[in-house]
Amino acid sequence: MLKKTSHFMREANFIGGAWVEADSGATIEVVNPATRQTIGTVPKCGRAETRRAIEAAEEAFHSWKKTSANDRAKLLRKLHDAILDNQEALAELLVMEQGKPLAEARAEVGMSAAYVLWYAEEGRRVYGDVVPSPWADRRILVTKEPVGVIGAITPWNFPSSMLARKIGPALAAGCTAVAKPASQTPYSGLALGVLAEEAGFPAGVVNIVTGSASEIGDELTENPLVRKITFTGSTEVGKVLIQKSAGTVKKVSMELGGNAPFLVFDDAGVERAVEGAVAAKYRNSGQTCVCTNRFFVQEGIYDRFVEKLVEATNRLKVGSGLEDGTQQGPLIDEKAVEKVEELIADAAEKGGKVVAGGKRHSLGGTFFEPTVIAEASPEMRFMQEEIFGPVSPIFRFHEEEEAVKLANDTAFGLACYFYTADLGRAFRVMEGLKYGLIGVNEGIITTVEAPFGGLKESGLGKEGGHQGIEDYLDTKYVCIGGLGL
Ligand code: ADP
Repeated sequence: MLKKTSHFMREANFIGGAWVEADSGATIEVVNPATRQTIGTVPKCGRAETRRAIEAAEEAFHSWKKTSANDRAKLLRKLHDAILDNQEALAELLVMEQGKPLAEARAEVGMSAAYVLWYAEEGRRVYGDVVPSPWADRRILVTKEPVGVIGAITPWNFPSSMLARKIGPALAAGCTAVAKPASQTPYSGLALGVLAEEAGFPAGVVNIVTGSASEIGDELTENPLVRKITFTGSTEVGKVLIQKSAGTVKKVSMELGGNAPFLVFDDAGVERAVEGAVAAKYRNSGQTCVCTNRFFVQEGIYDRFVEKLVEATNRLKVGSGLEDGTQQGPLIDEKAVEKVEELIADAAEKGGKVVAGGKRHSLGGTFFEPTVIAEASPEMRFMQEEIFGPVSPIFRFHEEEEAVKLANDTAFGLACYFYTADLGRAFRVMEGLKYGLIGVNEGIITTVEAPFGGLKESGLGKEGGHQGIEDYLDTKYVCIGGLGL
């Protein structure tokens, strides 16, 4: 297994076009969550190495910003092709460090390529404006320019695609990047560095550092050369990064936590709703920020929905991501399992009924049984806290307005889903839900063509769509006078 992926398993950082160790020589171990075995190490870098990466990116920016959008698109298309040519090896590497089933890893790598291609194309459509002037002898131009060096910090749950959807628009816009992948899953990020180098991006355009999150984060947020921070991760860390970026007034885009509600109305088709529920809940073993955190099901359909979701949950095959047919891999670490256990215990104490799963899986380690909890109620911790695990709490509701109110009763506003066959209700509920992403009769909706991003404490800015490149651009107004007209 290691043989196939070893080309991409870089145990070094990519700074200014060179593969380097940490100054101190210190390393961090990377563990396969399915076997609990160490698969390798990566450098444990800190502020000094990050500063050098930023300076290399600044140096590269001077010439990179002057390249044409068309030339940048050519390189991005090469990167896209290289990702797809190596999809299998990259997917296996992803499974080894992250644990997700191979089919999901392949799909993630496919998404990474798709983001890169989408922004190769969008980069050529960064239009400015020529605005009708209020003065007869002056003209008004509005132009868009790359912001400069960007700092990208990414999480462990989608270690490949979260980086691709930051680096894609950044490079297309003419920015250069310093990226910090999560310490649990650094290889998929470093692999994008390997491929960027092979695709022919100039030295310093892409830099990747691993190591101390707070040291690297502090340098990225405090260094005035960095003009934008893009982050995907917890709301807690996102708030710290926003505060730290204030000192040098950087642009920030934040993809933060969610607490997705999934509403099922009496008039919904139960089979389709359950199919959507399984997809929206159990993908990546519940470890995505758009995974359903709370099911709200109307009283007339409640018992049937619970019964069918329990059946579907019990059918899920738990195992190592590399085994054929696995649908549920391990959770990322012991802390994640403890959190899931705590939330289940809290629900059970408050009257919740565990009707499927409920405990650690017999495979041991961080494998957990996919779980359904019926009779969930608003005083349970799921109501406010992100589960990030394979647990489906099902609340009962009576009226449409009550469901929308419950769904909105959270500080988060990332994804939500609802199932109904009534067109009027579909519009009322859609307009009532304070969420950035809404699936109507659909459980999986992310795609490169559409803007992904949360409201409220789920974040700022959009990734994907034509909107996703905007955050990497500055707008300039130019007034040209003295034309003698
Ligand atoms: P999770 O709880 O899902 O691991 P985090 O927000 O803790 O999410 O981590 C997401 C990313 O943010 C990771 O790359 C992590 O190393 C990084 N990170 C964590 N703490 C900080 C920090 N203080 N400054 C900068 N980055 C951080």
